[in-house]
Amino acid sequence: MIVDTVRRFVAEELVPHEDEVERTDDVPEALIRQIRQRAIDKGLYAINMPAELGGGGLDALAVSLCEIELGHTAFALQYAVARPSNILRACTGWQVSRYLLPTIRGERVECLAMTEPGAGSDLRSMTTRARREGEDFIINGTKHFISYADVADYVVLFARTGDEGGITSFLVDKEDPGFEVRPGGESVSHRGFHHAELVFTDCRVHQRHILGEEHRGFDVAREWLGATRLTVAAHCVGRARRVLSMAAGWAGTRRQFGRTIGRFQGTSFKLADMLTEIEAAELLVLRAADREARGCATDRDFAMAKLYASEMLGRVTDHAVQIFGGMGLMKEFAVERFWRDARIERIWDGTSEIQRHILSRSLLREHETPKGAG
Ligand SMILES: Cc1cc2nc3c(=O)[nH]c(=O)nc-3n(C[C@H](O)[C@H](O)[C@H](O)COP(=O)(O)OP(=O)(O)OC[C@H]3O[C@@H](n4cnc5c(N)ncnc54)[C@H](O)[C@@H]3O)c2cc1C
Repeated sequence: MIVDTVRRFVAEELVPHEDEVERTDDVPEALIRQIRQRAIDKGLYAINMPAELGGGGLDALAVSLCEIELGHTAFALQYAVARPSNILRACTGWQVSRYLLPTIRGERVECLAMTEPGAGSDLRSMTTRARREGEDFIINGTKHFISYADVADYVVLFARTGDEGGITSFLVDKEDPGFEVRPGGESVSHRGFHHAELVFTDCRVHQRHILGEEHRGFDVAREWLGATRLTVAAHCVGRARRVLSMAAGWAGTRRQFGRTIGRFQGTSFKLADMLTEIEAAELLVLRAADREARGCATDRDFAMAKLYASEMLGRVTDHAVQIFGGMGLMKEFAVERFWRDARIERIWDGTSEIQRHILSRSLLREHETPKGAG
């Protein structure tokens, strides 16, 4: 039922704006507000948050089914139908009314900052530092590639606090002195969805801004952010489904050598492979989501879904361009955009190589001979 509502919402409220967003590389503030309000009116905002806090109260499986539908359209548009970061569930006391509840109501928007110019896959090498001074912390350092920082009101920031590798997560408001947001580079993927550089220069925050425990930022990230990879994977499935329907439509109508190109095995077998891979990715997504909903998901479930779905989307969009021929590279057809957009999915939220590390490590752990045993 809610999945049908999301599907209609995507078709009626988001898809009509795709071309404009692509052309201008922008989602105007008024449009973001309009999408947000309509999503709130239809009960589609913050669907992942607990019902008792005003969210949709959906479990991970239902959320993933909705994410697949949202994946059918431009990322910059569907992002306005916010599903606040699950890490905000770690808010306690004063943080609940200052950050969590207004974010669920659509009054405030967050972004999440881990990556630095010198610390990408190797996040533990981050150098942004928060030095304790009485009850305050003084933050210095630079984050880059931070999505939505141009729109967000506050950031969930990860900074080094201990000499022994301790990392702490902080909630920092955009208007805090010493916090500057600078435009990031222009990406070919997901036009209209921007990332920024965050520069902290002697930015002072009180210790009550710590999310989770001091020096235990990665614990809170591990507990709440695993499912982020599931979201990426679900979007890949949605996007691949849309691309497949475009490719099949083209293959069924474009004629060469006196017949539709779908009649040539070179095309029809590609369509068959695309369909099969999409369904395989969807099964991995839904299995991981179901396990998450039942509280028994592992990093392996998320890594496998993200790895396979993002690589599947790369293959599916590439086949689609091939089926469209030269027209596949023309901007008047959305297939070109989906092909470009697909590229980022193998990079952000942990590259394919990092997912393979997670998977191979978990497999080898089961098979390694214990030290001293042969
Ligand atoms: C548009 C965009 C938006 C983003 N949004 C956010 C955000 O909101 N918040 C945030 O914190 N981050 C964000 N990121 C950062 C993103 O998560 C990182 O780009 C990603 O984790 C990879 O880091 P990197 O780009 O520094 O690549 P690197 O870590 O430098 O990796 C470069 C290459 O080396 C490979 N590599 C690295 N280590 C290993 C290894 N041990 N074994 C094998 N191969 C390895 C990688 O797989 C990759 O192929 C965003 C990135 C982009 C591009």
